[in-house]
Amino acid sequence: MKTFGFKGLLQNEGWLQPAYVSCNDQGIIATISDTRPAENPVESIEGFALPGFQNAHSHAFQYAMAGLAENDTGTSASKDNFWSWREAMYQVALTIEPDQLEAIATRLYAEMVRLGYSHVAEFHYLHHTPDGKPYNNKAELAEKLLSAARTAGINITIIPIFYQKGGFGTAPGDRQKRFICRDRFTYYELWQTTEALCNQHSHANIALGIHSLRAVEPDEILATLHEARPNLPIHIHVAEQRLEVEQSLQFLGQRPVEWLAGEAGLNENFHLVHATHLTSREIESITDAGAQVILCPSTEGNLGDGLFAFEKFQQHKGKWSIGTDSHIGLNPFEELRWLDYGQRLSTHNRITYRSSAQRSGGIAAMEPCIGYGREAMGNHQKAFFQAGSPFNALVLDAANPLLASTGFDHLIDTILYAGDATFNLGTIINGQWVVKRNQHVAMDKINRDFAQAVKKLR
Ligand SMILES: [Zn+2]
Repeated sequence: MKTFGFKGLLQNEGWLQPAYVSCNDQGIIATISDTRPAENPVESIEGFALPGFQNAHSHAFQYAMAGLAENDTGTSASKDNFWSWREAMYQVALTIEPDQLEAIATRLYAEMVRLGYSHVAEFHYLHHTPDGKPYNNKAELAEKLLSAARTAGINITIIPIFYQKGGFGTAPGDRQKRFICRDRFTYYELWQTTEALCNQHSHANIALGIHSLRAVEPDEILATLHEARPNLPIHIHVAEQRLEVEQSLQFLGQRPVEWLAGEAGLNENFHLVHATHLTSREIESITDAGAQVILCPSTEGNLGDGLFAFEKFQQHKGKWSIGTDSHIGLNPFEELRWLDYGQRLSTHNRITYRSSAQRSGGIAAMEPCIGYGREAMGNHQKAFFQAGSPFNALVLDAANPLLASTGFDHLIDTILYAGDATFNLGTIINGQWVVKRNQHVAMDKINRDFAQAVKKLR
């Protein structure tokens, strides 16, 4: 048994101060108390502990191109858009080898841990060899991602993605050949192989995923959802781009969320990624069904997607979580700040994150972001920390002069709006320090492997 002592630990109802968290050798919390336990040695930490963040949407390979698609093409501004970025992304997807994927994902996940994430959901559609043929082990690349997560010390939910077509009513293009499952039966085979793999690892589990309405035939989507095991989280990209909504109207006669709500039937297992362009009726169809959205503000900003109608969504008590998607930004507080400031700039109001208990905005943001983020992983734990669950925490530096002079009432807000990664003291996952003082325990090797992989890739 080991005990961590903190100046404060954030619970759903507020700060426990001081806080003593005792864990067993597997990193499972045995007790949480404000009294120092007499029987155990205590590691006293000059820090404030927050629950580990949940990164509900990731495409790991895209980390290799972070910042590489920012050139003005010299043609017209409208040409440097999501679709031109997608072409650059395909270039990486077409060439990356399994070991390169592992090295890139390992560094990405290690950075996520450094910035406070303890869990990532990998929206995994890069399935096949560069020739577009299945690997001998169908889940070869999922295995590399699992291995990357283990080295980085992060928990992972693998979401094997069903990707069948090039767009609404179009056959897949040559540049998408590594993503494609011919039909849902080929997808099931891939899914089952991946599930067997996940079952062998305590840091991994599995969810179900469909790339988007444009990437799978409508009847195949409906059959896949109908035949899915109950209670699995279901992840799908929806309404990220205006063009996608227009094409959905042409091809399906309905907007993406309208179609999903009407034809598939939304429920609390659905995690709709982006959902940027919604009508008021679509917002209500999501919230009435208890379905959830995954917002990726730094990527959505980088790709020029648009602003999610967060204010309206909150009025209907919508459930949301965050993800870093293309990984152009990786800091969870930055995602929350982007999400908030986008709303302030468009509504001319302040205080975006609201709670019925009139708590501070920062606290109001933490509860959905952690709780629904966990649901995106298939974990229904509501309490930030509880006995019997793994101890996962981001620890902030209580000696930081700004934090030291801020009272507990405003602590989360100061961290969220005025902080950066230098405020982080470290990250504990499954009861172990994985990052301390901005240094991952295995960073030297992780960085070397990453540099080699990226050099070869480019
Ligand atoms: Zn995505």
